[in-house]
This record gives sequence, structure tokens and C-alpha cells, in this order.
Amino acid sequence: MTVLLSAAEVARAAQILAEGGTVAFGTETVYGLGADASSPSAAKKIFEAKGRPEGHPLIVHLASAAAFHDWVASDVDDRARVLAEAFWPGPLTLVVPHNGRVAPEVVGHRSTVGLRVPNHPLALELLAAFGGGVAAPSANRFGHVSPTTAQHVLDDLEGRIDAVLDGGPCSVGVESTIVEIAGGPPALLRAGGLPTPDIEAVLGEKLVDDTMGKSRAAGMMASHYAPNAKVVLTPNPEPTPGDAVIAPFQVDHDPAIVLPADVAGYARNLYSALRTLDVKGVSRILIAPPTQGALLAAVLDRLAKASA
Ligand code: AMP
Ligand code: MG
Repeated sequence: MTVLLSAAEVARAAQILAEGGTVAFGTETVYGLGADASSPSAAKKIFEAKGRPEGHPLIVHLASAAAFHDWVASDVDDRARVLAEAFWPGPLTLVVPHNGRVAPEVVGHRSTVGLRVPNHPLALELLAAFGGGVAAPSANRFGHVSPTTAQHVLDDLEGRIDAVLDGGPCSVGVESTIVEIAGGPPALLRAGGLPTPDIEAVLGEKLVDDTMGKSRAAGMMASHYAPNAKVVLTPNPEPTPGDAVIAPFQVDHDPAIVLPADVAGYARNLYSALRTLDVKGVSRILIAPPTQGALLAAVLDRLAKASA
């Protein structure tokens, strides 16, 4: 059975990881389903619990930017180190050549690894107590909406994982931005919680847009973040009975969830709103997107995938 652990029980969570078990934990983006990134058998448990196809690489979470060099190839591009120092801890995943410390199953037998230091005090405590890298995709059933509370994780994975470490609701609410620096020019693989212009300002160059590149990041697959109900994007929702509405303004309909008009607040609450309405068994969810703000690209990307 899955145990729900409080912040006071972080040592027990680290112990479960050390024994090769699975622990979901809160980060600033979404909840991750963690296991020892150096252990093939631990990594396998993540794929089994999620029902995720093998070969989809997992992000490896580290306790600090200082651990970067423990995982990357010795000839790693200096621009990756610069980004790590500028934005970690934070919602940026760097895909870089690895040095073989990561289990091949975690990286889908690729030569690159996705690395990130989450900006969440309890996650950092867990990572420091464990000491190694923690492979962690979002802690939901494959293809479902990402979880932003411990309860969301239990709703999807109760009985399929060893523990959930309750870090409270996620402050960002959308997945990390993924940038690949592995031989070619720095490339954006997925828009996310760190705005792309912030990254380009530090690099002093534009990122190549590779967000449509095959399914290199699982998050690129259409319908990856989908609820069960049909999702329709529209600036002016005109619901009929049996529909639900999500909008950044008041709507005269039931059920409706009004999200904050600022895009950061919208992003923080979006997945929770989708889950709340989905369990009501509505046939359609009409969603009015936000219109401006730094996280707009990430939110529009997730909305497009939820409606695919
Ligand atoms: P998830 O945690 O399910 O949102 O997925 C995280 C994303 O990071 C996955 O979709 C991965 O494809 C991507 N990622 C992690 N490691 C790599 C890698 N070595 N190469 C390319 N993408 C990666
Ligand atoms: Mg996911």
C-alpha cells in the first residue's frame, strides 16, 4: 500500500528510495514519481506504476547545481553549466550528454540525460538526504493530467507506489522547460515553467525551436496531458447542459471554475481544475485560455495537448 508521508518524515522517504522503492514528491512544477536514477530495477518500477512505455526518458532530479558534474560527460558544453548556475534550483531541465552513472533504462538507452534541481524546500531536503539522483516523471498514470497535490497522486497511483511525500500544492503548476545542449545549438524541446526569453537572455542567443521534434520529450506527444472529457478551447465559451467551463473570468454556468486572470495563477490552478471537472463526468470542458503573460507559451501548449 502507498503511505502518505508528512514533511517530518522526509528521512523515511529517503530510506525508501535507498532501498530501491518509489516515492512521489512535490516540486514547484508538478508532483514527480521518484526512484533511484542509478538503479535499473528501481527505474523499472516507475514505468510499471505509470503504465508508461519504456524508452521514454525520465528527468533526473539533483540536490544542487554542484552535482551537475557528477552526471554529465566531461566535455559537456559550457553553456549548459552556465544555465544550470543561472536557473537552478528552478523549472529548467537540461538535456546533456551523460557519463554513464545514470541507469540506461532512465534515459531510454540514449547518450543524453535530462537533469534538474527543483525549487522546493522539501524536495531538496529529500534529494540531499538520499544523496544520489532521483529519476522522476510526473506522478500520474501515463497520458493523464499531471498531479499538483499529494491527493492527485493518490487518485492516480494509490497502491501502485510505495509512498507520497506531501509537499503541499505546487507553486508553478506546469512542467519544467526542457532545453537540449548536446552537440547542436541549444534547442527548446518543451515550453514550461521557465519563460524562454529568460533563458535566451542568459545565453545571449536564441533557442532553436525543436518542440515539434518527434516524441523526444514525452510531453510533446499530442494528447499527453488529457482529461477523459472532450476539451474545447474557445475565447468565448457557450456551454450547453452537460458541459463544464474553465475561464479566467466569471461565467454564468454550472459547473464552472474561474481561474486567476494572471497567467501564473492560471497555470498554478489549471491541472487541478481539469481533474475536478473530469471526475464530475461532464461530456465537454470548454476552456477559455489566458491572453498574456510570461508563462503563456507553456499554458497554451498544455491546453492544446489537453484538447488534442
Ligand atoms: P514528464 O516528467 O513525464 O513530464 O517527462 C519529462 C520529459 O523530459 C520527458 O518527456 C522526456 O522525454 C524529457 N527528457 C528527459 N530526459 C531526456 C533525454 N535524455 N532526451 C530527451 N528528452 C528527455
Ligand atoms: Mg508527464
